[in-house]
Amino acid sequence: MQSYSMNNIKRRRIVVLGGGSAGWIAANYLRHHLPIDHFEITLIESKEIGIIGVGEGSTPHLKQFFNMLDIDESEWMPRCSATYKTGISFINWTRHTKTNRYFHPFPSPIDQQTASVFLLHCLQRHRGENLPINPDEFFLSMKLAEQGLSPKTKPGQQVILNYAYHFDSSKLGTFLSEIGVDKGIHAIDAKVVEVISNPNGNVTTLLLDTNQVVAGDFFIDASGFSALLLQKHLAVGFDSFTDNLMADRAVAIPSPLENDFCKAETQATALSNGWMWRIPLTNRWGNGYVFSSDFIDSNDAEKELRAILHSPDSTPAKHLKMKVGQAKQHWKNNVIAIGLSQGFIEPLEATALHLVLDSLGAFIHFYKGGKFSPDDVQKYNNHVTERYNGIRDYIVAHYKMNTRADSEYWLANSQNQNISDRLRYLLDTWHKGKDITPVLQESNMLSHHPAVSWYCLLSGYGAYQATEKVYKTPTQFTQMQRFIGNFTAKFKTHKESLIF
Ligand SMILES: Cc1cc2nc3c(=O)[nH]c(=O)nc-3n(C[C@H](O)[C@H](O)[C@H](O)COP(=O)(O)OP(=O)(O)OC[C@H]3O[C@@H](n4cnc5c(N)ncnc54)[C@H](O)[C@@H]3O)c2cc1C
Repeated sequence: MQSYSMNNIKRRRIVVLGGGSAGWIAANYLRHHLPIDHFEITLIESKEIGIIGVGEGSTPHLKQFFNMLDIDESEWMPRCSATYKTGISFINWTRHTKTNRYFHPFPSPIDQQTASVFLLHCLQRHRGENLPINPDEFFLSMKLAEQGLSPKTKPGQQVILNYAYHFDSSKLGTFLSEIGVDKGIHAIDAKVVEVISNPNGNVTTLLLDTNQVVAGDFFIDASGFSALLLQKHLAVGFDSFTDNLMADRAVAIPSPLENDFCKAETQATALSNGWMWRIPLTNRWGNGYVFSSDFIDSNDAEKELRAILHSPDSTPAKHLKMKVGQAKQHWKNNVIAIGLSQGFIEPLEATALHLVLDSLGAFIHFYKGGKFSPDDVQKYNNHVTERYNGIRDYIVAHYKMNTRADSEYWLANSQNQNISDRLRYLLDTWHKGKDITPVLQESNMLSHHPAVSWYCLLSGYGAYQATEKVYKTPTQFTQMQRFIGNFTAKFKTHKESLIF
């Protein structure tokens, strides 16, 4: 393989194909890390083809990205109709708990004390002690969302909380393109019609429908599900996750905000043949139904969603096909794929842009190293593949743990045996009432979701043996609730914190 040392060539040409969120995040990320004197960055996008235009929830990685670019929330959030997100509420996925819901928070340092009480309760509940085990009772982030508060503190208060955002994905793309162009990224609006490689297999040139020719030294394939460079041209192949994850379609319908009270949370509510996201933006709700076409057709899914939202037929619905899985290699020759072109799991934990940022972080590490040895490329591929597999296992666990029996779809999911060996082992360990932390460590399952997230999921679905014991509130639990209650008083309302 050709060497790409930063020292031996004057100005390297990096070409990003695709101007969706992934392409613009990648271009800005690289612009930040690679000095303009040595690296020229060109982004090609086709306004005619357009972007997928969904994907409105993030993880805390997006906050780190804006911090890295030194862009304040007051600058980007109003432009993108963005709101805060402290976690995700999973509603109606189970019939095992009193509330049929639980909250998955983004873990923060402040949770350390309360999380240890939670984990202890989980272990004691396995031993038959009838203690509270719903994560909703133990995490500050959930209480903030429940009470219409934001993760931003009132003046004079200092509590560091991990949080994320909801945003309008088209507006985010526009915002990032503007700042990218200001920082010297060269943007071209045209369609790539041909990809040319040299005899070593490295891509050299993209031919555009405007007859322009764009040459590059390194290419970022951010062309969305069409995956033009890595999967189509370099034919790396695709590992489908459809055996593990059945959802392959989505329909999105926006709806108006009914009132001022908007929780800083995403809601993921189970429906007849999939689940519905509900995401608050400052100017509307983003809603969508993720489903499997083997169990419900698109028209019926749209009808079901419209009925829940009381949405008139005049409000357009956007139907989407999802290609679920990952590229067999994320980096081949002088091309890496970023975004939907490298893979997609499904939107349940809103991890797509998270994986974009995680992949870029790993890539820049190796790129700056400058060796580009086959060993480096292999390490990068192993890292990203493992991230995808780790998130896939966590999402499969949501489906596997559901206890609904109202449709073939939910039964097929709980009975699905196509799960990874390590997930099977983890679930067996849990069902035997043993501590899962050592299994998570041994099976390398903590790379993406920490132990507390796994406990939230398994405990949130109420997956314990029945117990007849009478529940007596332990003092420690009462003290912990008081502790959380005192903290909520330090935070602004969600509405207040959206006024910049
Ligand atoms: C139903 C659903 C819900 C989702 N929810 C979330 C979520 O909550 N959170 C999250 O992080 N992610 C979510 N995602 C994923 C998210 O939408 C994507 O990760 C994100 O939008 C980035 O997409 P992209 O840039 O890879 O692709 P796209 O937005 O499709 O962009 C592809 C780009 O490539 C260009 N292009 C393609 N072919 C050519 C060509 N021949 N010549 C020139 N240009 C070309 C297009 O014009 C476009 O600019 C969701 C996805 C789906 C399907």
